Amino acid sequence: MQETLKIAVQKSGRLYEGSMKLLKECGIEVSNGNNQLRVLAANFPLEVFFLRDDDIPEYVQDAVADIGFVGENVVRESNKEITIIEKLGFGKCRLSIAVPKNGKFETLTDLNQKKIATSYPLILSGYLKEKNITASIHEISGSVEIAPRIGLADAICDLVSSGSTLFTNELKEIETILLSEAVLISNKNLSAEKKLILESLLFRIRSVKKAKNNKYVLLNAPNDKLETICKILPGMRSPTILPLAESGWSSVHSVISENDFWNAIEKLKAAGAQGILIIPIEKMIL
Ligand code: ATP
Ligand code: MG
Repeated sequence: MQETLKIAVQKSGRLYEGSMKLLKECGIEVSNGNNQLRVLAANFPLEVFFLRDDDIPEYVQDAVADIGFVGENVVRESNKEITIIEKLGFGKCRLSIAVPKNGKFETLTDLNQKKIATSYPLILSGYLKEKNITASIHEISGSVEIAPRIGLADAICDLVSSGSTLFTNELKEIETILLSEAVLISNKNLSAEKKLILESLLFRIRSVKKAKNNKYVLLNAPNDKLETICKILPGMRSPTILPLAESGWSSVHSVISENDFWNAIEKLKAAGAQGILIIPIEKMIL
């Protein structure tokens, strides 16, 4: 019988949707219709365990699960013997120190000898030590943002994405201590057979990620502008150029990275490109 790779994902919460979407984009069918805690994928040797996110690093360390999708913040705080294999591009947030908006603290140094409330005591104490700040850390498991208002602490250290929770609680960020996103973690002692399944999953994940970071560009260009346009659009090797029915014009096809995108589009227009179409890429195998 073929082995299956056991993957732990968050049962519900901020990483659930992203985790299931990524598996789907990898062509792996997992139905969690009955809210089961354990589901076998229909078309890939994968068994999915749905767990609380805080438990995932420990389960992966102890080989209850072989791999997991979990926030890097949780991995760093748990400090378990596991390997981070790949960043996954969703669940992006930052762990930041914030203080009351109209209070007397402005910088990290102002927090010397003060009290900071957090659910991340390990990451915070490491950071404070590195910066030579002595503050007392008050560990709480939730609703950290109300701590200063109820007199529990002078500052907080918590996860932020848009910053709207800080805003509603009249707090301002003064220091980012960790940038986080969902990561793929693995047990350190996978069997050879499990490693092969992981390689195959990783190949799919990387193809999906690459496709997301790139766009397919299709445009029309007058032939005398082709050289300039091709310099703006390097493509995977070089752009594909096909003659149009209208003489003196060509159709140019290429792939462009999300980061260069807006910059390049402006240059392409200025160089005489017309009818520019930008098409999402589903998978990218190089
Ligand atoms: P569980 O019930 O599984 O323990 P939780 O309440 O601890 O869930 P969530 O709030 O669902 O956790 O967040 C899961 C992860 O989502 C976080 O650990 C973090 O990596 C990521 N995340 C992204 N943006 C945010 C944010 N604004 N606030 C909190 N977590 C965020
Ligand atoms: Mg949790």
